[in-house]
Amino acid sequence: MEEDSFVFVEIEDIIQQPQQNPSHNPRASEYFHDVEKCLDNLEVPLWELNSFIHKNPELAFREFKAHNALTEFLKLRPCWRVMPSAYGMETAWVAEYDSGHAGPVVSFNVEMDALPDLGHACGHNLIASASMAAGLATAEVMKRHKLAGKVILFGTPGEEGYKGGKILFLEKGAYENVDVSLISHPGILHNSPLVRTTAFARLEVEYFGRAAHGGKEPWKGINALDALVISYNAVAALRQQTMPGDVIGIAITNGGGKATNIIHSYAACVCMLHTRTALRLEELQQKVRACFRAGAEATGSGINITWTPGYEDHMPNRVLAASYTKYWDLIPDPPQPPIPEPGPGEESFTWVPSSTDQGNLSHAMPSINVSFAIPPGPKAGQPHTPDFEGAAGTREAFRRALRVGKALAGTAIDVLTQPALLDEVRKQWEHDMDSIGRQELMNQGGWLLYDGRDQRHWNYKS
Ligand SMILES: [Zn+2]
Ligand SMILES: [Zn+2]
Repeated sequence: MEEDSFVFVEIEDIIQQPQQNPSHNPRASEYFHDVEKCLDNLEVPLWELNSFIHKNPELAFREFKAHNALTEFLKLRPCWRVMPSAYGMETAWVAEYDSGHAGPVVSFNVEMDALPDLGHACGHNLIASASMAAGLATAEVMKRHKLAGKVILFGTPGEEGYKGGKILFLEKGAYENVDVSLISHPGILHNSPLVRTTAFARLEVEYFGRAAHGGKEPWKGINALDALVISYNAVAALRQQTMPGDVIGIAITNGGGKATNIIHSYAACVCMLHTRTALRLEELQQKVRACFRAGAEATGSGINITWTPGYEDHMPNRVLAASYTKYWDLIPDPPQPPIPEPGPGEESFTWVPSSTDQGNLSHAMPSINVSFAIPPGPKAGQPHTPDFEGAAGTREAFRRALRVGKALAGTAIDVLTQPALLDEVRKQWEHDMDSIGRQELMNQGGWLLYDGRDQRHWNYKS
């Protein structure tokens, strides 16, 4: 951290005592009234910021314009200290409002990146708007009511990829002492704070055979393409015995060449695995590795498998979700669909079959990754389509994000002002992490474990 990159303004400090009883917080409605007022006043500048980011899409870890626009915006706000290009990442940033008095630390992640050729078709401009709104409103209420604690905005680059900015922040210790991590994501289907996303990983598989003339002496060759095709079919057979939520995708990246009268000496593919939990991912990848090794075994090819871990599944915190729902329902004219009634079991989760690096954070601290529906485009396209790119740039979509920002700020203020509620949040998180482990152990068994032979290179004799 470079001290000279901060803009720091002192505030006067007389601090409210936090409420001890979470079910009795007489000032909660007063705080939330101030959240709404603050964000109604900020609607125009936040809309301009939102539009600027939407009209200037930038790829992962190259979000220079968004980084500058957001940090400049925050530098102009009183009492925020801003660290541009934080933690060795050019487009990452951190902004902090510190009451100066020890208390809970709440955080919001601000995503900024767009997609290749599709602009903001994942709507990260709306995520930025919701988190910025939430952070600004939380700080305003802390200042006005002299609440103890801290609010931090993390400008998290590169969500669309394999090594998300949040994971890099996490590895560098940026979230140490942070109590909760809050974020949202737009779509067209759900309004839900109980969102679960999938874990994913990527395998790159190469087969090494031996070239030979396909007509004259094919017996001298080892066909790497055959190895790949056998493996592909082995994976296709495996798909019948996978679990709900498992997705296995394969792309052949090198089919061995264009000529038909040769024995192909090299072939390669990429395989993506998505599962409901990170531990299930570990199980599935062992089965898939066995399929890939089968092709090598059958043909005598050498094989090399490179495993790249992606993102962990997201586990939402039910206590934070309940607080969010309370404020969402307090704001007039809730849009469709309503937030589903929470139940005790897995069925109350909203499963979103995609992955986010917020998942990794949810395994490190209590988190919610709220899904919110924006009015769809003419083709009702989901995220990652040109239709959704258009939908994510509308004023109404932005208004929905602002509404999310208000409910997220309400949640954060509950955490700041109700120590007993924060205790419940932590207990829920510990319970969730514990139950994921037990659930996965029950799924194991019935198949052989990976034997570690992913790297095998033959020494051929000519
Ligand atoms: Zn996306
Ligand atoms: Zn996204």
